[in-house]
Amino acid sequence: MSEFDLIARYFVRPVHRAALGVGDDCALLRPTPGMQLAVSSDMLVAGRHFFDDVDPRTLGHKALAVNLSDLAASGARPLAFTLALALPEANEAWLQGFSQGLLALADAHACELVGGDTTRGPLNICITIFGEVPAGAALLRSAAKAGDDIWVSGTLGDARLALEVLLGNITLPADVLAAARTRLECPTPRVALGTQLRGIAHSALDLSDGLLGDLAHILEQSHVGADIDADAAIGTIAARRSGCTLPQQQWVQAALSGGDDYELLFTAPADKRAQVLAAAQRAATPVTRVGVITAQPGLRVLDANGAPLAQQHWASFDHFVDPA
Ligand code: ADP
Ligand code: MG
Repeated sequence: MSEFDLIARYFVRPVHRAALGVGDDCALLRPTPGMQLAVSSDMLVAGRHFFDDVDPRTLGHKALAVNLSDLAASGARPLAFTLALALPEANEAWLQGFSQGLLALADAHACELVGGDTTRGPLNICITIFGEVPAGAALLRSAAKAGDDIWVSGTLGDARLALEVLLGNITLPADVLAAARTRLECPTPRVALGTQLRGIAHSALDLSDGLLGDLAHILEQSHVGADIDADAAIGTIAARRSGCTLPQQQWVQAALSGGDDYELLFTAPADKRAQVLAAAQRAATPVTRVGVITAQPGLRVLDANGAPLAQQHWASFDHFVDPA
């Protein structure tokens, strides 16, 4: 199959929102007047971000989900995306599964595939996504204020627990593992919540590398500190709520340092709690308060008694530094 046949068979779709899709030198988008364009890229590399034998359908889903999650964190509505794909071979069964997983999620968000690039090489998937947000309304990492509540959406840590099982480090009951594995391989981008939080949240980001590591970006860019309630954070873990038992340290590590959650972390003034909960309800996405932004710099993790937790739990996943 030639490169062009492959693109035509698996990646060409009619476009409705874009002015021009796949097939020309450039795609043409039609941003709504008065809106700013929100743009983000994410690359997934085989062996680094996923196992080579992962189901291509879930891989297609995840490749787009992590990009939609970036738009969600900015409060932007998805418009379109491009797909740059390096493939070791034109495996039709793989392409079929991958494109179905990818395009099903794209359709669910009315986000159109408008172009890309295809080349032979070690499996590598790079998506650039375009969204729109009213001018000046994007949620930023730099706008947290002392006194803000710190909130997270959904559940933390389950993706990390699934990874620990796949690596042979822990075991979980089959049904709990199945749910956790879905969180790892098939994350749900919180797009509706992101747009609902515009005008309510001060700052936001999406959790890809672990709560503490990602929160540090907000603290640095907003020149503030934070107290995190470890019990509130581990209380969100679905595996824990379903009655599993693991050492406390494992729960804490999964919720605070585990990556791949693709939940939103956001801060909002304490007097907007009711508005946050109403926004979460409109988005049909649960949210939990897990801490507070402080004027005092630094990041403190507190146990149920308000006592600081040992810092060895804090290592966050970093692609260039092996976790401790
Ligand atoms: P160019 O020669 O300008 O780089 P290509 O020949 O690589 O263009 O691609 C032809 C058309 O197919 C372009 O419109 C490009 O955006 C699109 N395209 C290439 N690869 C993909 C892909 N993986 N998914 C979607 N569109 C693609
Ligand atoms: Mg090209």
